[in-house]
Amino acid sequence: MRRRALTSKPPEWTNWARSARATPAAVATPHSEDELVALVRAHTAAGGRVKVVGGSHSFTPIAAPDLENTLLISLDGIQGITHVDVITGEVSVLGGTRLWTLADALEPYGLALPNMGDIDHQSLAGALSTGTHGTGLGFTGYSGMLTSLRLLLASGQVVTVSRSQDPELFEAARVGLGAMGIILEATLRCVPSFDLAAAEHPESLEGMLTSFVDRSRTEDHLEFYWFQHTDMVSAKVNTRRPMGGERAPLKRAQHLVDDEILGNGGHRALCELGRILPRTVPRLNRFAASAMGDRDYVDRSDRIFVSPRRTRFREMEYAVPLADAEEVLREVIRVVNGYRDGITFPIEVRTAAADNTWLGTASGRDSAYIAVHRFIKEDHLHYFAAVEPVFKAAGGRPHWGKIHTLNAQDLAGLYPHHADAVRTRDRVDPTGRFSNRYLETVLGPPPS
Ligand SMILES: Cc1cc2nc3c(=O)[nH]c(=O)nc-3n(C[C@H](O)[C@H](O)[C@H](O)COP(=O)(O)OP(=O)(O)OC[C@H]3O[C@@H](n4cnc5c(N)ncnc54)[C@H](O)[C@@H]3O)c2cc1C
Repeated sequence: MRRRALTSKPPEWTNWARSARATPAAVATPHSEDELVALVRAHTAAGGRVKVVGGSHSFTPIAAPDLENTLLISLDGIQGITHVDVITGEVSVLGGTRLWTLADALEPYGLALPNMGDIDHQSLAGALSTGTHGTGLGFTGYSGMLTSLRLLLASGQVVTVSRSQDPELFEAARVGLGAMGIILEATLRCVPSFDLAAAEHPESLEGMLTSFVDRSRTEDHLEFYWFQHTDMVSAKVNTRRPMGGERAPLKRAQHLVDDEILGNGGHRALCELGRILPRTVPRLNRFAASAMGDRDYVDRSDRIFVSPRRTRFREMEYAVPLADAEEVLREVIRVVNGYRDGITFPIEVRTAAADNTWLGTASGRDSAYIAVHRFIKEDHLHYFAAVEPVFKAAGGRPHWGKIHTLNAQDLAGLYPHHADAVRTRDRVDPTGRFSNRYLETVLGPPPS
C-alpha cells in the first residue's frame, strides 16, 4: 500500500543537534517529483509556506519550519542518480539523495565525488545549500562541483539553471540556503574513482601551527584536531592514489576499537565524566589526544573521508582567509585555553580552495576552516560567544549550517555578492514562500 504523502497531525521537527525545533502546519514525504511539485503548488497557491529538509543535520535553524502555515517536506522518498556521462564525469542526482548512497552508486561507472566532508548523512541538496565542504586546497566544497541545477521555484515553475541559463539564479542557488527554490536535481562533475592513503598521527601543536598553511598547499587533504589544555594535535593526512593499487583497510576489530569504542563510545564517556567532574578535563583531554589516531591505512576514498559521529554535539565553524590562519588559530587557542570551563570536544581545522559561488564561505578566497564544538549536554552558547569575536575580527564567514550570530547587515560586509543573492531571492520568491526566521535574519525579509 502506498504511504500517504501528507500527515494531518504533524510532530515537532528537530535537528540532529537538538539545537533547533519547530512545529510545522503539516508534514509530507512525497514519493515522486510529480507528487512533490503538486504538493508545493497547492500549498503555496493557498498562501502557505514550504520548507524542504534533507538530513536535518544543520546546527542552525536554517531548516526549521518556523513561520506560520509552513508545510514541512522531507525529500527522503525521492532519491537516486538519474543520468551519468562517463566521458565528462557529469552525474545528475536527485536533490534528496543522501550522500552515503553515492559512492556505491557511482562505483560501477568508475566515478567518485572529488572530495567529501566528515560525514555522509546529509542530502546532496542540503549539503549544497549550506556550502558543505571537506578539506584540501586543491578542492572546493560540494557547490564548486556543480554544473547545473533543476529547480522548482516559488511560482510553481520548474527551471534548469547553469552558467549559460539564468546564470544569476545559478550562482545564487549554488549555495542557496534553501531560499532560491527547491533543488529537484543537481548535476555534478565527478572524477575517476580513487583510493586514499590515510596517515593519522599525533604531532606537536607548535609544529602544526607554523607549518599548516604550507603543508596544506602540498598535501592532498590535511586536517587536524586539537584539545583544550594540550600541546599535541591529531593530524590526518590523506593522499590520493589511483584505483587498482593495493588496499590496506582498517581491520574490523581495529575499526571497532579505534572508531567505535575509543572514538565514539569512549569519547562520549569522557564527555560525561568531564561534565560531572570538570577539574578532570585537562587530564581527560590529554588522554583523548593520545588515544586519537596513530595509524596508516588505504581504502576507497569515501571510506577514508567519512567517519562515524555518534556522540552528539553543537558546532560553530568560520572560514578565515588562508593567509591569516596561523594568527587566528593562535588567538582561538589562547581564548579556548583561558575559557572558564573544561571543553572535552576538540577544535577541528581544515582548508578549501577559493570558489566563485556567491554565498560559499570560500567564495573568492582560499580559506582555512576553524570549528569549535561542545558536547550536547553542555552550554554551547556561552562558549561560542567567547570564541566568535576572534572569527569576526578576522573577517571570518560562518558556515551557514553551523551556529553563529551574524545577520544580513554583517554578512553583506563579508560577501561581495550578498546583495546580488538577496536581489535574486526577491525576484524568485518575493513573498517568502520558502522562507523561515533564519533566512529572514541572514538575507533580510522578502519584499512583500
Ligand atoms: C555530525 C555532523 C557533521 C558535519 N560535518 C560537516 C563537514 O564535514 N563539513 C561541512 O561543511 N558541514 C558539515 N556538517 C554540516 C552539514 O553538512 C550541513 O549543515 C548540511 O546542510 C546538512 O545537510 P542536510 O541534508 O542535513 O540539510 P538540512 O539541514 O536538512 O537543510 C539545510 C538547508 O538546505 C535546504 N534544503 C534541503 N533540501 C533542499 C532542496 N532539495 N532544495 C533546496 N533546499 C534544500 C533546507 O531547506 C535548509 O535550508 C556536519 C553536520 C553534522 C551534524
